[in-house]
Amino acid sequence: MNTPIERPDYYAVLGVPRGADALTIRRAYRQLAASYHPDRHPGGSPLATVRFQRVVEAFGILGDPERRERYDAGQAIDAPKVEEGTALAELFGSVVDQLFGVKARSLQPGPDVLYRLDLEFAEAALGTRRELSLPRPDPCARCDGRGFPLEHLPEICPRCAGRGEIQRRRGLRSAVEACPDCDGRGHLVVVACEACEGRGRVEVRRPLRIDVPPGVADGAELLIRGAGGAGRHGGPPGDCIVRLTVRPHPLLRRRGMDVLLERPVRVFDAMAGGWLDVPTLEGPRRLRLAPNTGDGAVLRMSGLGVAATGGARGDQLVTIRLEWPTGLSAEQAAALEALARQSGPETFPRTARFEAAVQSAPDEGERQDGRRA
Ligand SMILES: [Zn+2]
Ligand SMILES: [Zn+2]
Repeated sequence: MNTPIERPDYYAVLGVPRGADALTIRRAYRQLAASYHPDRHPGGSPLATVRFQRVVEAFGILGDPERRERYDAGQAIDAPKVEEGTALAELFGSVVDQLFGVKARSLQPGPDVLYRLDLEFAEAALGTRRELSLPRPDPCARCDGRGFPLEHLPEICPRCAGRGEIQRRRGLRSAVEACPDCDGRGHLVVVACEACEGRGRVEVRRPLRIDVPPGVADGAELLIRGAGGAGRHGGPPGDCIVRLTVRPHPLLRRRGMDVLLERPVRVFDAMAGGWLDVPTLEGPRRLRLAPNTGDGAVLRMSGLGVAATGGARGDQLVTIRLEWPTGLSAEQAAALEALARQSGPETFPRTARFEAAVQSAPDEGERQDGRRA
C-alpha cells in the first residue's frame, strides 16, 4: 500500500474546483500569472515571487493530464520544481512557455519553401549555375516565433484548451488533428507582434547557389534539402523545392536528347550549295550545304544537342525547307523562262525520263488520268 504523499492543495493555489476541466485550469493559471507580471511588481517583491513560484508549480502538475491523475491519486510525481530565488521576470517567461501546447514547445521542423525559376532553353539543355536570393520564412526574432509580443501572455485557444490538437471522431475511429481555430498553435493571437504581424515568422532573403543539371525539362523540380525555413526549438530546417520553367526558344525545339531546327533555304542557294548560318545551343554556327540539296533533307550536327549528366550529348538535326520564289517581277519571270528554254533533257534527267515513258505507254493510261488509287 502506498502512503499518500503530503502536498499543497494545488487546486486551491490556482483557485479552481477539483473537477475543473483543462481549459478552466489554463484560464485560471493565465489570469493568475498576469497578475504577477513584472511590470506590476517593480523591483520583484519577494512575497509575490514566492507566491508566483507556487502558482507555476501548481500548473506544472494540474496542467499536465498525466501528472494531474497521479496527483489526484496521491502518487509520486516527477514534476519540475521551480528553483528558489528565480527572478519574477524569469518565472514569467516560463509561464509563457508553459501555456503553449506541448507541440509548440517541442522541436518544430521549418517549413518547406517553393521557388519558381525561369530558365532559357539553352540553360535547361546544357545545365547552369544560378545565384538565387531566396526568401525563407524564419522564426520572428522579436517575438521568438510566438506571434505576439513577449510581454503578453498567450490567449489560450478554447477549442483545443491550448493543446493545439483536437480529437475528431469519424464513425468508430478517432484521429488527432491540428486544431483549426488556432492552426495547431494552442493559442490565439489577440495582440499581434508588429514585426511578423502575428504569423510568428518573417521572410528573410538569403543567397543560395544552385546547380541546375543539364537536360532538365519544363516543370521539373529540384529538391534542395535544408534550404527551407529555419526550424524552432532545435527542429531541422525545411527543404527548398525549385520548380523550373523552361522558356521556349523561338527557333529550336527539343526531342529527347536531340535539338531540332527547320531551316528555310532559297531554292537557288540549295542548287548552288554553300554555307548556312544556323542557331545552336552554343550560339550561331555555320553548316555546309551540298549543291542540289533537296527539300526535307536532314543535316546532322553531331554533339550539339541536349547534354546529359554523364557528359553525353545529343545531336542537332537541321531539316532543310526549300523556299520557292514568290512575287516575281515580269522581268525576273522572263529570265526564268529563258533559263527553262535553255535547259535540255540533261538538265532535268528524271523529268525527261518520265515524260518519255508516258509517251510510249498504251492509251488506257489516259482514261485513268486524274483518278486516285
Ligand atoms: Zn486550438
Ligand atoms: Zn513576431
